[in-house]
Amino acid sequence: MTLRIGCTADDFTGGTDVAAAFRRAGLRTALVFGVPDDTSVLPVDCDAAVVALKSRSTPADEAVADSLAAQRWLRSKGASQVYFKYCSTFDSTPQGNIGPVTDALMDAAGAGITLHCPASPPNGRTVFQGHLFVHDQLLSDSPLRHHPLNPMTDSALVRLLSAQTRHKVGLIDWATVRRGVETVRDAVLAHQKAGVRHIVADALTDEDLAVLGAATLDMPVVAGAAGLAEGIGHAHPTAGAAPAEPWPRAGRAAVLAGSCSARTLEQIARFHAAGLPSLHLDVLAAATGRDVTGEALDWYDAQDPGLPVLIYASATPEELGAVQAQLGVAEAAAQVEELLGTVALHLTGRGVRRLLVAGGETSGAVTTALGIRAVLVGEEADPGVPWTYSTTETGDLALMLKSGNFGAPDLFVRALTETK
Ligand code: ADP
Repeated sequence: MTLRIGCTADDFTGGTDVAAAFRRAGLRTALVFGVPDDTSVLPVDCDAAVVALKSRSTPADEAVADSLAAQRWLRSKGASQVYFKYCSTFDSTPQGNIGPVTDALMDAAGAGITLHCPASPPNGRTVFQGHLFVHDQLLSDSPLRHHPLNPMTDSALVRLLSAQTRHKVGLIDWATVRRGVETVRDAVLAHQKAGVRHIVADALTDEDLAVLGAATLDMPVVAGAAGLAEGIGHAHPTAGAAPAEPWPRAGRAAVLAGSCSARTLEQIARFHAAGLPSLHLDVLAAATGRDVTGEALDWYDAQDPGLPVLIYASATPEELGAVQAQLGVAEAAAQVEELLGTVALHLTGRGVRRLLVAGGETSGAVTTALGIRAVLVGEEADPGVPWTYSTTETGDLALMLKSGNFGAPDLFVRALTETK
C-alpha cells in the first residue's frame, strides 16, 4: 500500500482536525509534526499523511518554503495529491498566505487548476455564491471581523483570493454542485479553458463536499478546510478499509493541561468533581528555582496506579494575568512548556501509556519533549479530538492532543476511564 493523499495544514490544531477527517472517511492516516526531513518516516503504511505546519500567520515566503518542503516529502512518499488545509474562516490577509502557498504548491506539482472550498457544515461554515457564512451570518458580519491576527472584513471568496494571487479566480455555484460529479468536472474544464487557475466552489452540506471530493480526486492540489478533505477521503478507493488501531489497555493514564481556555477549565473541574487525583503546578515557584517537577513526580508516585491523574498549569484569567505580570508573557509560557514537557517525559518513563494533553502550544511542547515527530490517527473521542498512537523510547503511547476549546466538558474523565 502506498500513500495517496498528502496534506499540509497551516497550524497544529488544523492538522489534527484534518487528520481526523481523513480517518473518519476510513483512511489510515498519519499526522507529522513540523516540516519533515530525510530522516522522517511514516509510522506504518498509510493512505493519507498530514504535515502540521505553523504557516497561517508567518511571513508569506516562510509559509511557502515550509509548505513546499512538506509537499516534496509527501510526494517522495508517494502522494499524488496534496491537500492544503487552511481555516474554515479563510484566515488570511491580502498578502496571504492562502494564495501564495496554493500557487507555489501548484507550480511545484505542475498543476493548471485547483479548487478551494473552506466549508465545514458541522461547524456552521458554508459557502454560497462564493460567500462564506458562519452559521447565519456572513463571515464579515461575524465575530471574525475582529480577529486579533487576521480580521476578516470581506466574505466574497473570489475577491479575497483574487487579492492574494495574480491568477484568475472563478466560481462553481451551488446549482452546479447539486447536479453532481460529472457536471462539476465539466465546469472545472470550462474554467480551465477560460484561463481560470483557482476555482472557489459552493457547498452547503457534507453531500456537496462529497461531490466536490469525487470531482477533484485527480487534481494535484486542492485546498480548503477539513470538510472537503473528508469528501476527498470518501471518494478514495480504499475509503472505509482502515483497520481499527490498537487500544492500549495496559499502563497508566494521565492528563497534562497547559491550556487556560474556558472549556479546558471546565474539563479540569469535571475531573475534580469525579474525585480523581490532580495537582496544580506552581509556575511562579518554578521560576524562582523550586524543584516543582520533582515535587510533581513524588506526588505522582504516591497516587493509586489504577486511577488517571491530572497535572495542570492551567489558570483562571485572573491567576494567569498575575503570573504574566510578574514573569512576562513569554517567560511564563516558556516556564509552563518546560515544566509540562519534562513532566511528560518522566511520566512516560514511569509507565504512562495513555496521555491526554490540553492546549495547542502545550501539545507542541509535549510532543517535542517526547521526541514524537509522527503519530497514527485513531478514533475520535469527541469531534476533532482523535486518539493518536506512536512508539516512543519507553514504549507504545496513546496520545490525545486537544486544542483549548475542543472536547466536551467530561472529555478528560470519559477518555481516560473508558476501557474499550
Ligand atoms: P490553547 O489551546 O487553549 O490556546 P495553549 O497551550 O496553546 O492552549 O496556550 C496556553 C498558554 O498559556 C501556553 O503558552 C501556556 O504556557 C500558558 N500558561 C498556562 N498556564 C499558565 C500559568 N499558570 N501561568 C502562565 N502562563 C500559563
